[in-house]
Amino acid sequence: MRDWPPKPNPRYERAVFLDRDGTINVDTHFPHRVESLEFIPKAVEGLRVLSALPLHIIVVSNQAGIALNIFTVEQMSQFNTELRTKIEHAGAHIDAFYFCPHLEAKHLASGVSACACSKPSPGMLLEAAKEFQLDLSRSYLIGDKTSDIAVGERVGCVTILLRTGKAGREEGALSIESEYLAENLYEAALLVQVLLEHDSKVKPIPARYKRL
Ligand SMILES: [Mg+2]
Ligand SMILES: [Zn+2]
Repeated sequence: MRDWPPKPNPRYERAVFLDRDGTINVDTHFPHRVESLEFIPKAVEGLRVLSALPLHIIVVSNQAGIALNIFTVEQMSQFNTELRTKIEHAGAHIDAFYFCPHLEAKHLASGVSACACSKPSPGMLLEAAKEFQLDLSRSYLIGDKTSDIAVGERVGCVTILLRTGKAGREEGALSIESEYLAENLYEAALLVQVLLEHDSKVKPIPARYKRL
């Protein structure tokens, strides 16, 4: 589901999909209060780098706290608005927020299948791809969990795992390797910039980004 904007405005064929909690803001337990919004170091700088690139910046976020009755869709929207406003004041932007309000597989009894939009299922990315007319195989995904990497890989995006947030070690982590590792969103943004340039054969990819 799309929280914002009311009407998508497709401008580029590529997107960088960003996880929210643990990637942009600190992943406190189900963050939803605007007063507890805290940016991860270098995340805003990363968004500034991404904002100068010819791609959409699209947040895709599991928000099971809604199904768990920890917060409402309205509270999540307020949190997203606060996040977006602060980012805009810092000279960057986010083009869209997609969210899954359902329970994640880990909350469900065994044998009960999860919805089609809870990462690692690709529903949110497919919805965004349709609404923004994206080429997913030329898009990027940045996140802090293996479920982020899994969904990116599933739809053919270039995947970058961050060492912020859960750093790929969440409860029930999947055995999956991202294509790249980065210390934080800023380093990942610089990598996306290089990969875009590499696409036009300008620069080689720095070896330090390669996963060992
Ligand atoms: Mg996360
Ligand atoms: Zn869902």
